[in-house]
Amino acid sequence: MQEFVKVFDREEVVGKTGIITCSTIIMPQIFVEKTKKICEVGAEKIGYLVCEQQLHNDQVCYMVEYILVTNEGTTTNVVQNKVFTKMAKGYEAIEFHIHPKALGEQWYDKFSGGDYNTFRKILSGEDKWYKHVLFTPTHILTFGIQKPDFRIATLNKESLDAAMERMMHWHEQLIEHEIAY
Ligand SMILES: [Zn+2]
Repeated sequence: MQEFVKVFDREEVVGKTGIITCSTIIMPQIFVEKTKKICEVGAEKIGYLVCEQQLHNDQVCYMVEYILVTNEGTTTNVVQNKVFTKMAKGYEAIEFHIHPKALGEQWYDKFSGGDYNTFRKILSGEDKWYKHVLFTPTHILTFGIQKPDFRIATLNKESLDAAMERMMHWHEQLIEHEIAY
């Protein structure tokens, strides 16, 4: 399963440029900082990155518009507590989980055996294109047979305002459906 994993050092991924490949996950800087904060406290958490599918040079990639933490737990719970089974056309909810500081440094740059068991189950069953992201205090990891790349989008004022607007839009939508609080 390790052959489907990409590991990114948080420090190195800042300002990373170059060709965007298929399945690249692009996250605005403010969201990346938020994931670091979430790692600082508490237990393992799981949730979804609500992403807009975008085309960059004919490659499908994913712009993160909202981070939804659904509950505490490990990847096993991800499967048990599916919030999004389907998203609107042009959108995708990518599952993620967090290895918090308290879990210990040995889990900062790797998925656990339990994580791989979950992925194996999903790949062999419902979804062979399944993607997953792991955030830790020092690293960001992606999993998927397309080996998703990860980029940070540094936004100018205008794009930042637009991103905030999209975030609020999702927040209201999810509150309405009693998914976010
Ligand atoms: Zn894990």
